[in-house]
Amino acid sequence: MKIKDLEFKKFIPATKIDDKVAELAAQINHDYKDKTPVFLPVLNGSFMFAADLLKEVKIPCRVSFVKTSSYSGTMSTGQLKTLIGHDESLFNQNILIVEDIVDSGLTLEKIIEELRGLGAKSVEAISLLRKKSAREKKIDVKYVGFDLEDEFVLGYGLDYDGLGRNYKDIYKATRSTEEAK
Ligand code: 5GP
Repeated sequence: MKIKDLEFKKFIPATKIDDKVAELAAQINHDYKDKTPVFLPVLNGSFMFAADLLKEVKIPCRVSFVKTSSYSGTMSTGQLKTLIGHDESLFNQNILIVEDIVDSGLTLEKIIEELRGLGAKSVEAISLLRKKSAREKKIDVKYVGFDLEDEFVLGYGLDYDGLGRNYKDIYKATRSTEEAK
């Protein structure tokens, strides 16, 4: 499959994703039994994962979608992410951030920092995918679906330049079509 300049091949089929989602939901049903967690899916990438996961969550819970916005202004990193869109009061709540993929962990660290500042009772994260650099940096993700190396993936909510979010399987980039010429 070709999207723009990149060539992709099927990597994680939908059936495998479904099984993993059910397994993760079962763990959450157990761990958060009497905690009425607030799920905070981080848009846009996690929309499909969050929808499938939440269909398997059988305990009382709330859901509130958030998005991160980045803006320049710090000289050291160049980018700072801030959380927008949480409309529930998160004070004293057990929060589960729902991510599609954690790579450097920068996005997740910023979100966790902000939520702790709002007085959340507990803040944990679930991510369908986790890349090598997140493991090396020991980014704290309580629930992980699949561990990846450094590959670029797309599908099941994840995009390449806005395209490819709609596929039910996950694909990985093989090589650019430029290289293939
Ligand atoms: P981090 O802040 O952990 O470096 O990056 C997290 C965000 O980068 C993800 O939410 C996602 O939007 C994007 N990202 C990181 N790796 C990939 C990837 O392999 N494919 C796609 N489509 N997005 C990625």
